[in-house]
Amino acid sequence: TGIYHSLVKLGTKHEIPTKPDLGTANFVLSQFPQAHLAEARIAFIDSGTNRSVSYGELRRSIYSLASALFNRLKVRKGDVVFVLSPNSTLYSTICLAVLSVGAVVTTANPINTESEIAKQVHDSGAKLAISTLEDLHKLVPTGIPTILTSRPFDGNMLSIEELIEDCYGSPQLPQVPVAQSDTAAILYSSGTTGRSKGVLLTHANIISIMRLLFWQVDVSGSQDDVFFAFIPMFHIYGMIFFGLGLLCIGITTVLMQKYDFQAMLVAIQKYKVNNLPAVPPVILALVKHSSKVKCDLSSLKRVGSGAAPLSKEVAQEFRRMFPSVELRQGYGLTESSGGAAFFASDKDAKAHPDSCGKLIPTFCAKVIDIETGKPLPPRKEGELWFKSPTIMKEYLGNMEETSATIDSEGWLRTGDLGYIDENGFVYIVERIKELIKHNGYQVAPAELESVLLSHPLIVDAAVIPVEDEETGQIPMAYVVIAAGSELSEDQVIQFVAGEVAPYKKVRRVSFIDTIPKSAAGKILRKDLVSQSRHQLVSK
Ligand code: AMP
Repeated sequence: TGIYHSLVKLGTKHEIPTKPDLGTANFVLSQFPQAHLAEARIAFIDSGTNRSVSYGELRRSIYSLASALFNRLKVRKGDVVFVLSPNSTLYSTICLAVLSVGAVVTTANPINTESEIAKQVHDSGAKLAISTLEDLHKLVPTGIPTILTSRPFDGNMLSIEELIEDCYGSPQLPQVPVAQSDTAAILYSSGTTGRSKGVLLTHANIISIMRLLFWQVDVSGSQDDVFFAFIPMFHIYGMIFFGLGLLCIGITTVLMQKYDFQAMLVAIQKYKVNNLPAVPPVILALVKHSSKVKCDLSSLKRVGSGAAPLSKEVAQEFRRMFPSVELRQGYGLTESSGGAAFFASDKDAKAHPDSCGKLIPTFCAKVIDIETGKPLPPRKEGELWFKSPTIMKEYLGNMEETSATIDSEGWLRTGDLGYIDENGFVYIVERIKELIKHNGYQVAPAELESVLLSHPLIVDAAVIPVEDEETGQIPMAYVVIAAGSELSEDQVIQFVAGEVAPYKKVRRVSFIDTIPKSAAGKILRKDLVSQSRHQLVSK
């Protein structure tokens, strides 16, 4: 039939019954291990401030904040709440409290610019924002009512801390019926083409992916594991792992607000971290620089890699340097709630260094020939399509992009070229969608192109990825300037840098007479990619 089914079976204890009226917050809270609540096991420690929160406190804070949001601030079902914060011990409390009253969480990278944030506030229809004091100024121009995460010095703004104190002792969540089909989160992704769009994830999507996380941890870890979270909770990877999922298992997570390699190693030693979900640039840094930092990393048992391709050479070097640490690659996308393929065993991971694992339980895949649209047999390369209960409902308010991405039978097109072997291992070969990934973060070429076109001397532009050892990829711009005008590469770079978040900066520029386009006016990115390769080789 051309359909690949997950060959990994969930054990019966992972088959959590999906009740249509069970929301994410109730689900997560019902999973908190009772013993952990009793023995004050730590849920989160902030490695910067050393502040910690136990499972018992976390539950009390969620109840209190939920009650304050519902009774005092009148947050209601379907209201969208914009969360603008780096990782913090309050992040999960905020998300779960918002979800418990049937409201919807939308998150963003706090280093995004004021205009990027304004766009998302507007697009998501957010009614309320929750922000750190540091990032507040980016929300002010939008006029959205905002609550600070911590109490301000001058005391004239509400804070989450104050709301929690206000309703402290609330014995339960407000009784708001939340259906699994209700929207839980709107996370932003550019998908296969164009600009950033709101990926609408339901409670059913999120509960399904968390269930798969139990399975992952259960097959390869234990409740006593200590995880380290530099991966931001505003991204699907961090939100599902640290913000929500690991809480169901009773894990302790040591978190870091802003990634810093050396401080991370110090924290691994200090807190005896044994699990490090990471991204390829961090695996590379461990290979290249960990010996220069005098830290005892012997507690580490497992390092994960996801969000971008991990080079086979780097993986091999990592295994050589850290022979007792398991290295497991995983693959997924925001549109599939973060999951799709994963290695359940280290033996498999070692034996298949090019693969990102097997389809995770509940996933089916098709590998579609890009020329003919027909499903392909094992080992033949094509676009990966997935079906699973974790696939997003839609792109917010964008039926056209939704139906271009999810077909009438519910198959999600990933925009990733790959193949599946006869044993079910998934291999990603190339990204065929426009998306650029810099340090695991999404950069949408269409967005940079529109910034470039807003420059008075630029008449046309195209942005493509250039491979980069340290960061995965960097955005490169091909630019056509108005006849008779002058512009330097550096001026173009500076112009874009002034308009976008630092991770989206154009880092290389080339001037060109015309941008190659198809008859229909589509930028021929492939031509530019091969042109850039020639240019770089001949330099
Ligand atoms: P995001 O929605 O930000 O998680 O980005 C999803 C995209 O990241 C995927 O469609 C892939 O292009 C890429 N990606 C994620 N994990 C991997 C991996 N292990 N190998 C290759 N590409 C990956």
